[in-house]
Amino acid sequence: MEDHQQNQEDLDRAYAAKQPFATKEQIESLVQHYPTPFHLYDEAGIRKNMEAIRDAFAWNPGFKEYFAVKANPNPRLISILREYGCGADCSSDTELMIARSLGITGSDIMFSSNNTPAADFALASELGATINFDDITHIDFFERTAGAVPKTVSCRFNPGGLFQLANGIMDNPGDSKYGMTEEQLFDAYRMLKEKGAETFGLHAFLASNTVTNEYYPALARILFDLARRLQEETGCRVGFINLSGGVGIPYRPEQQANDIRAIGEGVRRAYEEILVPAGMDDVAVFAEMGRFVMGPYGCLVTRAIHTKDIYKHYVGVDANACNLIRPAMYGAYHHVTVVGQPGGPDKTHASADAVYDIVGNLCENNDKFAVDRAMPHIDIGDLLVIHDTGAHGHSMGYNYNGRLRSAEVLLRSDGTDELIRRAERPDDYFATLDVLPEGRALINACRDCGGKDE
Ligand SMILES: *Cc1c(COP(=O)(O)O)cnc(C)c1O
Repeated sequence: MEDHQQNQEDLDRAYAAKQPFATKEQIESLVQHYPTPFHLYDEAGIRKNMEAIRDAFAWNPGFKEYFAVKANPNPRLISILREYGCGADCSSDTELMIARSLGITGSDIMFSSNNTPAADFALASELGATINFDDITHIDFFERTAGAVPKTVSCRFNPGGLFQLANGIMDNPGDSKYGMTEEQLFDAYRMLKEKGAETFGLHAFLASNTVTNEYYPALARILFDLARRLQEETGCRVGFINLSGGVGIPYRPEQQANDIRAIGEGVRRAYEEILVPAGMDDVAVFAEMGRFVMGPYGCLVTRAIHTKDIYKHYVGVDANACNLIRPAMYGAYHHVTVVGQPGGPDKTHASADAVYDIVGNLCENNDKFAVDRAMPHIDIGDLLVIHDTGAHGHSMGYNYNGRLRSAEVLLRSDGTDELIRRAERPDDYFATLDVLPEGRALINACRDCGGKDE
């Protein structure tokens, strides 16, 4: 019983501690200018975290973070990351175009794609990106469709089987479509060397959203050892090890955030133990973090527009899964805070007034941001903050039910705000119907109407 009480107190404290990065006053002021829903980003938080990442890997002179563009392709946010020396990890031609538009080219692009279309390889090649081959057959395919194999290349490894860490976190590489077997990797290195490659990289992504400081160090040990054997047996010079993404964030209040300094230190120890004795002390460490770089520094601001009491209690908000699909797609937890609820931080889990399903308006019953969630009482008109939407939030959006994707707003370090993507309008949704006369009429009708509204 006492144990249980202690746990409840810990949980209450954790809930109280997980607050939005913007104050009640800031959010109430923002909704005067920007209709809900919108994604809001925290410039100060992004910068502070980037400094921590830079410091954690400062021991490795070649260290580079290639931000995973798919996590958040907003150019304004990527240009903030550029100030900290970030490159771009792209996996499609449009992501490459975003990189190019920001002046990110050459070795500042890591092209980590899979099942890659020819056009994507062609653009990556044109931009001089570092190609991270997902499969051994892609080497020939690249030559046929994009040109000669570049001097610097990388290969993606998949060890198969189950990947397990001491704390039980694991993933199932044996069931994942990515990467090459060890045998293929040795062959690929030899093949690429024959085709003129001179500097080689090694990449793997073995577990997603790991909330433990052990993941990167454990992965580094696997890759460092493999790199040592590859260099020894093939004579290929390994120039970099790419630890990819997978460093997670505490979506749940009771989770302990990763300590990037401890992660960097763990990787350094593995480097000292494995690469340095092998005479490989000039190997650069790369990362392709998306979630860890942007996840906590975005949130979805939405408003309760209906409540409904049938067999369960529902709160209907003006956002839906088109704005944030992770809960619908993976059953992912996203913390929800009611802005300015009396008691705010004190209105914790234990003292919750109600148990709600917080739902969007799609005609899909999985369009729920929270299911059976203990919450403070919510009234129609209340503003809600859905936390941790900075990565794989807006970027995973879609248009089911003809629902439109929201705006993105940056809360700048100086407290001012900036619209960094407008909300979609009906004419955006209809734009691809311009091949039809009735489509063009539809587009023009909404433009006329939109014009009058403004
Ligand atoms: C998705 C992805 C990432 C980013 O993963 P996070 O978990 O967001 O850090 C990095 N590299 C590749 C190849 C990916 O597919």
